[in-house]
Amino acid sequence: MASNLTIVEYGKPVLRQKGEKITSFDAALREFTDAMVEALHKSTGIGLAAQQVGKALQICVIDTSVIDEKESSFTLDGKQLPQKLIMPLVLINPVVKLGKGEKVWFDEGCLSFPEIRADVERPDSVEVHYQDTEGAEHHLVCSGVLARVVQHETDHLNGILFIDRAPKRTVKKIWAQLEALRARNS
Ligand code: ZN
Repeated sequence: MASNLTIVEYGKPVLRQKGEKITSFDAALREFTDAMVEALHKSTGIGLAAQQVGKALQICVIDTSVIDEKESSFTLDGKQLPQKLIMPLVLINPVVKLGKGEKVWFDEGCLSFPEIRADVERPDSVEVHYQDTEGAEHHLVCSGVLARVVQHETDHLNGILFIDRAPKRTVKKIWAQLEALRARNS
């Protein structure tokens, strides 16, 4: 199926909606997630949530294979695998448990906020239970860049945006850009 998905930008109400849980693991779901992966690759992003293509659903797709695999470490269902084997990841109904260890800062961007970046502090590691497009359950434990992307994308599924997690001083600096973008999209 050709991807006709358009990326939704900041200012659109759907970005603030909590995603609905997926209960039918059917062909239509696979068509939709394929289209999301296609849209992700087309936009050269590393993560995309359903809200960013206008649907408030518990689905996000991730592909960090353009980033050196030394920047992330992970186990999937208890196994260590090469990064390119697990990408793209399609996370359905993800439930995240934040790591209690070190927190790190990272200059984040978002496909719904073109040309805007903000420093955000998050735990360096995270655990996520999710389902694949067949409904099978998986357990991903990760740190580094992949943990960062998982947190950013799963936040989207709850209507939370990276600017909500940025310090006030950072938001102040980008406030004019944010307001201009919001005005364009409302
Ligand atoms: Zn984003």
